Amino acid sequence: MDLKKIAESVYGLTLAEAEELARRLGHPAYRGRQLLEWLYRHQLTEFDQAKTLPADLRKKISETHTARALELLEANRSSNGESTKFLYRTHDGRLLETVLISQQGRETVCVSTQLGCKMGCVFCASGKGKFGRNLSSGEIVEQVAGVTRTTGRRVSNIVYMGMGEPLDNFEATMKSLDILQAPWGFGIGSRRITVSTSGITPKMVEFVRRHEGRVRLSVSLHSSSDKTRTELMPINKRYNLPELIKTLTEINRTLKREITFEFTLIDGINDSREEAETLAKISKPLAAKINLIPYNPIREMDFKTPSKAKVESFQKILEAHGLRVTVRQTAGRDINAACGQLRLDREKDLPAA
Ligand code: SF4
Repeated sequence: MDLKKIAESVYGLTLAEAEELARRLGHPAYRGRQLLEWLYRHQLTEFDQAKTLPADLRKKISETHTARALELLEANRSSNGESTKFLYRTHDGRLLETVLISQQGRETVCVSTQLGCKMGCVFCASGKGKFGRNLSSGEIVEQVAGVTRTTGRRVSNIVYMGMGEPLDNFEATMKSLDILQAPWGFGIGSRRITVSTSGITPKMVEFVRRHEGRVRLSVSLHSSSDKTRTELMPINKRYNLPELIKTLTEINRTLKREITFEFTLIDGINDSREEAETLAKISKPLAAKINLIPYNPIREMDFKTPSKAKVESFQKILEAHGLRVTVRQTAGRDINAACGQLRLDREKDLPAA
């Protein structure tokens, strides 16, 4: 299938913009709302499928917008059926990944916000390749539409934890959140959406202010020591741990939702008793929930996954402090060793865009 060389995905339209578009093309504003119904309820891919819209309007919209900015190349299901990884090609020939996690009656879509990532966390495949570009709000929302269309499942939750740092692509992330939550959009409740960040503190403050703390915030911590965190996450040089904790303390006063810490456990690097004790000290005043992620090996690094016993003893130390801790199941390792790996592997085989 040839994707149109039109960057503007119609999935990035808000209600006001769709109404304005209809008016500009010589039709009443309500046609804009009708267009959105076709997008967000029926996930159309061709404007001709929007039968309630006049042919003239469909033709005019298709001259400036596309309803298929992403082409599905592959969908790989994990052996336990709980994860499906979708590989898409963008209109400019780049690759991106989206994951559907079906667990405990929830259908959670993990979206990407950038092609690659500038943050360069050493344990992450997404930060290894050359940074491509930011995704548009339409390309972010279209990932959810694509998963719904392909699987026929009703998406219940969204996590912004795919490729990229969502707050480094701030406006597109914010706009996509508006569309996913709106009654005229996907109508997904804000409590069912989580945005993950590596800790860009000024953007975190702005994010909470703009969303009044309704959308969940998840912070990739990965170490409770400033020195180790800098070694794992270069962003820590710019916004160090004390600054991050200070910002979270401020946010905690206004945020009505709990903060979650993501903590990737790497054998011999950040899985010591001391790390766990300091993590407990940081988390308690913030009433933060902790999500432990046993490290997913990537080819570029020789880090190791800690043993099950080590993960359990780390978890027990935190729980002894009265903290809520979950250990993320590694469902889907068989379809892709780590986030971003599939894309990197396939990108090498593709001709330059
Ligand atoms: S962990 Fe997140 S912020 Fe860090 S490089 Fe990977 S995608 Fe970027």
